[in-house]
Amino acid sequence: MSHTQSPARTWAEIDISALKNNLQTARQISGQPVMAVLKASAYGHDIKKIARILDQENIAFYGVASVIEARRISTTGSNTRIYLLGPTLPDERQEIISNRWTPSISSLHEATHLDQLNKGNPPLPVHITVDTGMGRGGFLPSNLNTQLEKIRKLKNITIEGIGSHLPSADDDKTFTQSQFKTFSEIVKNTHHTFKYIHLANSAGILDYSSSITNLCRPGLMLYGISPIESYQKKLQPVMSLKSKITIIRQLPPGHGISYGRTVLLDKPTRIATIGAGYGDGYPRSVAPDKASVIIRNTRCPIIGRVTMDQIMVDVSNLPDAATGDEVELFGKNLPVTEVANNANTISWEILTRITPRVTRIYLNK
Ligand SMILES: *Cc1c(COP(=O)(O)O)cnc(C)c1O
Repeated sequence: MSHTQSPARTWAEIDISALKNNLQTARQISGQPVMAVLKASAYGHDIKKIARILDQENIAFYGVASVIEARRISTTGSNTRIYLLGPTLPDERQEIISNRWTPSISSLHEATHLDQLNKGNPPLPVHITVDTGMGRGGFLPSNLNTQLEKIRKLKNITIEGIGSHLPSADDDKTFTQSQFKTFSEIVKNTHHTFKYIHLANSAGILDYSSSITNLCRPGLMLYGISPIESYQKKLQPVMSLKSKITIIRQLPPGHGISYGRTVLLDKPTRIATIGAGYGDGYPRSVAPDKASVIIRNTRCPIIGRVTMDQIMVDVSNLPDAATGDEVELFGKNLPVTEVANNANTISWEILTRITPRVTRIYLNK
């Protein structure tokens, strides 16, 4: 009996040297230590793999969305500190205490509960989140100081940091600039010495500077995608989604293509079928008249609707194209941002929705 495994038909190549370069770029531009944001399985790049790699890179914190993600990192044996980006639920806090993960506090109640749970242990470092415009969590600036006064009295937690979040750093310069200013004033007015002061996400790092912050929180840019087009050339895309041509056929005029038969061919057309679809996370919602893939360094338009496992493209201009040819759905030659725009969404969503059936292949480790 042979146990040969066939190669993957759809895979995501993940370029580790690009990840390291982007990290370097975040450090250079910000001049600050980095909280690497690894939520949503490191934006689809695999949280455990990315944590293992970044463990060698002197990262201040890994930013995660939930205790599940924190646990996934912990099981790798990582010693990098883990920071929970959003509010915690009461029944998650014991695990946070036990593992000495770093919570970001949004309410006095959260602080007092953590304090109670941590009784008998060394004080747990926590960060304070201030809501300077995101509207998602954090203390309102108007009552921050009275709450801080109370939190400071708690013996089993210690205020190590303060942070806030930018809702519009990629599209509203005036508001974001005023947010940097407000945050800076808020921090000064607390008259508290914080070890860590942080505000900037990727767009905040790329397009703004701050004299008060001393930690930055890049997510998207680590994965090589800029939230602001003009900075894309400073970054190197980490993930390339690839697949293969499974069959090529010459179809006659009048023939329909894909579900709904939204396309009826108006001339004889060489149609290649690709072995990937929305079941792999390629968005079904791409506008078929705009979306394309790359085969043999050539753009080939998608024809008809994206199906769960297969996509049809016009390869009439590629007489040499053949079954088994590699197809780039996005990556170094076709920006994921373009796919996102075509699907009326954002690159963050495309990356985080690449499904588990897509084999991740790590290059340049
Ligand atoms: C997700 C997130 C980030 C990273 O954002 P990017 O735009 O991907 O860089 C930073 N800070 C917080 C609080 C986040 O939730």
